[in-house]
Amino acid sequence: MKKIIDEYPKEMRALVLHGVGDLRLETVPVPKLTAGSVLLQVKACGICSSDRERVFVTGTYHFPTIPGHEFAGKIVAAADDVDESLLGRRASVFPMLPCMTCDACKKGQYAQCSSYNYFGSRCDGGFAEYLVVPVWNLVPFDETVPYATAALSEPSAVSLHAVQIGAIQKREAVAVVGTGTIAFLVGAFAKNLTDRVVIFGRSGDKLDYAKRLGFETVNLTDEAYREKAQRLSGGDGFDVVFEAVGSNATIERAVDLAGTFGRIVLLGNPKGDLAMEKNVYWSILRKQKKLMGSWNSSFSAQANDWATVADWMKNSSFDFGQLITHRFSLDEYKEAFALIHGEKGREFLLKIMLEIGGEDE
Ligand SMILES: [Zn+2]
Ligand SMILES: [Zn+2]
Repeated sequence: MKKIIDEYPKEMRALVLHGVGDLRLETVPVPKLTAGSVLLQVKACGICSSDRERVFVTGTYHFPTIPGHEFAGKIVAAADDVDESLLGRRASVFPMLPCMTCDACKKGQYAQCSSYNYFGSRCDGGFAEYLVVPVWNLVPFDETVPYATAALSEPSAVSLHAVQIGAIQKREAVAVVGTGTIAFLVGAFAKNLTDRVVIFGRSGDKLDYAKRLGFETVNLTDEAYREKAQRLSGGDGFDVVFEAVGSNATIERAVDLAGTFGRIVLLGNPKGDLAMEKNVYWSILRKQKKLMGSWNSSFSAQANDWATVADWMKNSSFDFGQLITHRFSLDEYKEAFALIHGEKGREFLLKIMLEIGGEDE
């Protein structure tokens, strides 16, 4: 192992999930480097709505596990067989550890792997000061990009992936149903392809925030929402609709908002079984609407959403940092998780970021 490893502590602090609802800040050993991997000093790790489920509802695959899959940090040590030039570099991490042997993996379709491991759910993740990461999973990013911004790479890649599936053409009318981090990221990537992007939601606060980000908005609880949607779509309905919530009502609305030959990209995780009004379903047949699923992101030589995101974070005028509404240190984790668990009521929030290692001096 490269000598530099000796300079780093043997112990670290981490949030360890011992059971549903039992998350503890503990001191644990720093994981050991293995061949082909680096030691990442985690600088920032976002809290995903799926982490809320893992911590408070479903648990991780086994206990104890350190959750967290949306992270970025600095490469501080490397195994002997790893390119030394990676040391000191900033990187975000594709959190999936595919089997590399199934049919999907052989084609580079890692998100469809039938037997994968995953940082922060199936194995330890990023709510920790250090993590061992295979070089294969690293996405180096420019030093002008703050760590907390780079920690948005995972939701950004997921959003970009959906936008690619939507295949938006110039001047097409695009609707995004949802007002969370993913919905706004989808909107931002879509806006790069067409200037006609409308965000649909129910929360006045979040729609106001969407307006500040430069989006046209429509409140779905507004009685005149269908007329507004019609006007903004140019008459018949939207060319492309993204559903980024996953509730029965929003999926139905998303289908309804699409026009003739409209494409509906589904990326919200369903909250339960789904049912649909007959007339809305019928519109899929009569208007030959196309329903498309989007899952995770591409991370292969042929298509790499993560590389595109790293490029965007460096060069685009969109300030990804605007999506971070709350920042906490590891010590303040109880406060951070109370926010998503509703103990604090319904405070306005988008992305909650745990800033662990801090920026470089
Ligand atoms: Zn996530
Ligand atoms: Zn596989």
